[in-house]
Amino acid sequence: MSKTPSFDKDRDYIGFATLPEQVHRKSVKRGFEFTLMVVGESGLGKSTLINSLFLGDLYKNRVIPNVEERIEKTTRVEKKTMDIEERGVRLRLTVVDTPGFGDGINCEDSWRVCTAYIDEQFRQYFTDESGLNRRNIQDNRVHCCLYFVPPWGHSLRQMDLDLIRRLHRKVNIVLVIAKADCLTKNEVRKLKERILQDLEDNKIQLYQFPECDSDEDDDFKQQDRDLKASIPFAVVGSNTILEVAGKKVRGRQYPWGVVDVEDPDHSDFNKLRTFLISTHMQDLKDTTQDVHYENFRAQCISQISQHALRERGKLKRDSISSTNGFDAAISETDRLLLQKDEEIRRMQDMLTQMQEKLKQTHLMEMKKNDSVIDV
Ligand code: GDP
Repeated sequence: MSKTPSFDKDRDYIGFATLPEQVHRKSVKRGFEFTLMVVGESGLGKSTLINSLFLGDLYKNRVIPNVEERIEKTTRVEKKTMDIEERGVRLRLTVVDTPGFGDGINCEDSWRVCTAYIDEQFRQYFTDESGLNRRNIQDNRVHCCLYFVPPWGHSLRQMDLDLIRRLHRKVNIVLVIAKADCLTKNEVRKLKERILQDLEDNKIQLYQFPECDSDEDDDFKQQDRDLKASIPFAVVGSNTILEVAGKKVRGRQYPWGVVDVEDPDHSDFNKLRTFLISTHMQDLKDTTQDVHYENFRAQCISQISQHALRERGKLKRDSISSTNGFDAAISETDRLLLQKDEEIRRMQDMLTQMQEKLKQTHLMEMKKNDSVIDV
């Protein structure tokens, strides 16, 4: 805990140097939220890896479906949340699993479920952010997607590429080669190379590790280099604690020996854990906010403004057509009035002519009478 600065007169500092500590205290008080999505076919070791990473048992009551159920089942989304506390820092971790992923022959359904879930969380956040109570918004956006690649292929399959292509602009994708203990060191290296080549050929951009700050110490810089060189992480998971040379390790016991999950010679498990939890969790959240959510928000705003423009255009057209109708009604009335005027004028002319005729007849009568008298 930081010392409160003394307020003596002759101090030679202003005091804002404590700002990071204030932010730190506030963040710790508020706690942290992180959502991780795990995607991959069933049986690839996703649940085991998540339990190994967070030292919990998130899948206690899990029922593994039989073949018939798996054929019928479509991909669903299952959300599990656990509150973890470490040295006074609280983390609310949500793991989003997609059971049934890739079980069907047609994977379209699996892709749709994943993209729809990610979009729905963005939409919810966008709605909450535009609402009245913005102070207590719960952030359920997916901050990272761990995509499990099976160890038995030669590289990425078409279905992997198709899904990654649909997701890579929406979420931070981190690839992991599952069950890496099935492969020799050489095979792991080759598989990694081919996967990276495939991604490059298909212009797919996974999560971009930020550049390491130049003022970081050498150990951190080396750790950062090692992390980047290990992508995609080849992992091994286990929920079993074994005793090896008097030391308790999380590992897998085989007839020929023990695979120590945390041993860097056996797998990249430690690197994945360091990356996900210790060094890049905040950057994953920042990238979600600044890149993926911003993209979504920009699309939303452009759709809303296009809709508003269309509505305004429609209103304008409606008002123009009603004004035109009014004009038409006016011109019809005018036409009728003019017609009546014309009729009246004609009648007046006739009247004048008749009066003229009458007058002349009268005059002629009078003249006739006068001449009779004269005679
Ligand atoms: P999920 O369906 O993807 O969640 O897979 P699970 O975690 O349930 O694991 C399926 C099976 O694979 C279980 O028998 C695990 O013990 C086993 N398994 C999990 N992780 C590994 C691993 O890293 N290597 C090997 N060889 N087997 C694993």
